[in-house]
Amino acid sequence: MVATVLVGMLCVYSLSFAVMFLLIGRRLGSDRMGMDAFAAGNLILGVAYVLQLMESPGWGWMGVVNHCFTLGALVAYCIGGARFFGKRVPLLLPLCAVVLGYAALQAVVHWGLGAVARYALLSAVCSLCFAFMIVALLLGLRSYARNLRGEVVLFVLLIGGILVLNLMKLGKLVDGGLEALDMDARFQMVFYIYMCSLATIMPPSFVWLVLRRLTDQLRGMAARDPLTRLLNRRGLAEALEACFQRPGADARLLMIDVDHFKRINDRHGHQAGDAVLCAVATVLRGAVRPGDLVCRMGGEEFAVVCPGIDAKAAWSLAERIRGTVEAEALGHDPAHQALRCTVTIGISGSFASTAALEQAMQAADAALYRGKKSGRNRIEAA
Ligand code: GH3
Ligand code: MG
Ligand code: MG
Repeated sequence: MVATVLVGMLCVYSLSFAVMFLLIGRRLGSDRMGMDAFAAGNLILGVAYVLQLMESPGWGWMGVVNHCFTLGALVAYCIGGARFFGKRVPLLLPLCAVVLGYAALQAVVHWGLGAVARYALLSAVCSLCFAFMIVALLLGLRSYARNLRGEVVLFVLLIGGILVLNLMKLGKLVDGGLEALDMDARFQMVFYIYMCSLATIMPPSFVWLVLRRLTDQLRGMAARDPLTRLLNRRGLAEALEACFQRPGADARLLMIDVDHFKRINDRHGHQAGDAVLCAVATVLRGAVRPGDLVCRMGGEEFAVVCPGIDAKAAWSLAERIRGTVEAEALGHDPAHQALRCTVTIGISGSFASTAALEQAMQAADAALYRGKKSGRNRIEAA
């Protein structure tokens, strides 16, 4: 009785979360983060539970479809996970193939080995599917799920639990036949209590993953310049805050301004000007050391903040940047003519707090201004 009520609750959970995932996916636009696949998985799982409530043991279309849909739901969840991590996996084709293929396999097993074997087959195949999920998640810790350590551990534990229960069900079916499926048996009650817990924890966890991804994206967008993908002022201040938390940390700032940039826009067009800004950003990224912060302050002005650098090293970094920009073609205009420009660089003295950043900027700006007055394509230190 208890297990039957729990299966009923699972229907409600699955179908209502299917609707929620569908709505969230639609709201997300082009990158649905796997929400449509999770919606499909929950929908067919919900239908499978409805069929389970209605079917009677033995061979019948409801039982066969129930098993096909149960397995199909797991496949849809795997596809949803892959899509969340940016893999382009089709949904409908593999789902149909699994459902139809498994229906055929059930027929073969039932007529060849009997009813018990058909139920044992489902437990075995589901266990394999859960084991695959666990391996994929653990492997992902090194690559695609690197920043989701806590979430992955939670999912592995939860899926591990259902894997163990499935293996136990398989053992009981092999030992005791269809009696293992008696809904009044203690094992079935434990099995469905666990399934209900899973259905309560997993869907909100998927929503949490989407929420986390969205907030990370928003934070990234707020901290970066959309054209060059370099830090903007806000991103620089945040990154500096973290950098100055180390005791005794200091830094120097290089203010870099493209010379006569307006002429590039006027002669070759705004798009060519944008390409030059991106090329300068690439030069800066390539010149700095790991840990240095590269920022677009606005327009054609860039800043590089180098923690723990002395005056001599700051000068040679500036010289490397100036020389590379002067020597390289920074993109091409619509007539395929190479675009060239130079930069003038001002270097601040050493500073040791985010509060002192403004002062360092003023000092580097004053040095930069001197460089401009002295003919451009130069370096000046404060
Ligand atoms: P100077 O050597 O004295 O620095 O001269 P300049 O021409 O580089 O400086 P000025 O401040 O006169 O001109 C900067 C130009 O940069 C003007 C503005 O239209 C252009 N600009 C600002 N932001 C962007 C942008 O995002 N893309 C493009 N293509 N141009 C931009
Ligand atoms: Mg300029
Ligand atoms: Mg300027």
